Amino acid sequence: MTPKPHQIIENALIVTCDCDHTVFAKGAMVVAGTDIVWIGPQEALPATFLSGAARQDAEGRILMPGLINMHAHCGDSLFRGLVENLPLEAWLQTVWTAEGAILGSAENCRIGASLGFAELLLGGTTSVMDMFWHADQSFAAARDIGICLASGGIYFDPPGMDGYGAQRREADAEALFQAYGDVGLAFVGTLPHGAYTVGPEGIRTAFAQSRRHGGFFSIHAAETRVEQQTIAERYGTSVIRHLSALGVLSPYSVLAHCVHVDDAEMDLLAETGTHVAHNPLSNLKLGSGFAPVAAMQARGINLTLGTDGPISGNDMDMWLAMRLAATIHKGASEDAAVVSTREALHMATLNGARALGAEGRLGSLEAGKRADFILLDIDGPHASPMFDPITHLVFSAGRGDVRDVYVAGRRVVGDHRLLTSDLPALTAAARALQGQITAALEARP
Ligand SMILES: [Zn+2]
Repeated sequence: MTPKPHQIIENALIVTCDCDHTVFAKGAMVVAGTDIVWIGPQEALPATFLSGAARQDAEGRILMPGLINMHAHCGDSLFRGLVENLPLEAWLQTVWTAEGAILGSAENCRIGASLGFAELLLGGTTSVMDMFWHADQSFAAARDIGICLASGGIYFDPPGMDGYGAQRREADAEALFQAYGDVGLAFVGTLPHGAYTVGPEGIRTAFAQSRRHGGFFSIHAAETRVEQQTIAERYGTSVIRHLSALGVLSPYSVLAHCVHVDDAEMDLLAETGTHVAHNPLSNLKLGSGFAPVAAMQARGINLTLGTDGPISGNDMDMWLAMRLAATIHKGASEDAAVVSTREALHMATLNGARALGAEGRLGSLEAGKRADFILLDIDGPHASPMFDPITHLVFSAGRGDVRDVYVAGRRVVGDHRLLTSDLPALTAAARALQGQITAALEARP
């Protein structure tokens, strides 16, 4: 078999998202197979790459790494808009009833996951950390649609919405490590739902299991005041101190939210190298509060960005997440200097890669890294003129600007169209479940 020719993306405005925030006003990038082999100014492109190469002129486009969404529940795409104007705890009761109505079916989980992945890819997200029931279905769907998925076994002490009980969580998680641990586009870990839904033993077991396999560990943590109260009543301490005492804060741990954390808790996160997934829209919409992002940054905590599921934020738009991260903390602290555009962009790219332990492979466009990249249109009225492309990406760009998306060198979105899945069939399958969900909620006592 003859090897595939190099792909060259030429004449692009390149925002590399590397540590120095390097931008090439007119640049080129060479991709061989799954990896970037060269990137730099157009005029410096070595002629040796040109022979037999597939060349794409990206004049008038921004070329940048695909976004990394570090906290989502893609399967919840099936329930978007179903429950509104409630705080987390009351909201969860309705969510779990709706999930329980249809998620005993693994096939339905797969439809939900595929729908979420389609939305993410079309919006320029190429990697996602996802917590959901029947994660085997998520991995299979991710493989088919071509997105990079970090997921794994969920831990949950009460009966789960997948119809399974606590006793099988460890074995199910183990099976996922066996099936997907060595698959190219997958990161496998364990994901206990939260300290209020999983007891100390489950959390410890999940962490030990993930470390045995060299995987990640992720959990919802310190999202609301009620959660803090629950943990205080049960264990006489706060959420982060509780997790610290269980020994699960580490450079392999990703804590979603961390809205209600005090100084000593932030110190614990910093000292242990624990990563935080900030979900600004979810925190705002559920009335959870404002995460102390600037104070966490000041301690050197690695802050990543997530959308949370599409019922807490109603979409999984990482551009909105970035824009909110770069604005709400200015307002909350009355300090326009906090969370710069460069920091917000790194939260959605390089910091996510770091939290996945994949800084050498993902999160920026550099030679030797995987070719996960996107091309954005910049000829719209909201993009002209453009004094600073990074400011544009954080404050003005949006999902509608994403024209092409590549994951590991494979084009998965072309000219705003998903190339790897039958989207009309997928949305029809999702709509077909609506009646069942509504009926379950109406039948509630
Ligand atoms: Zn969540």
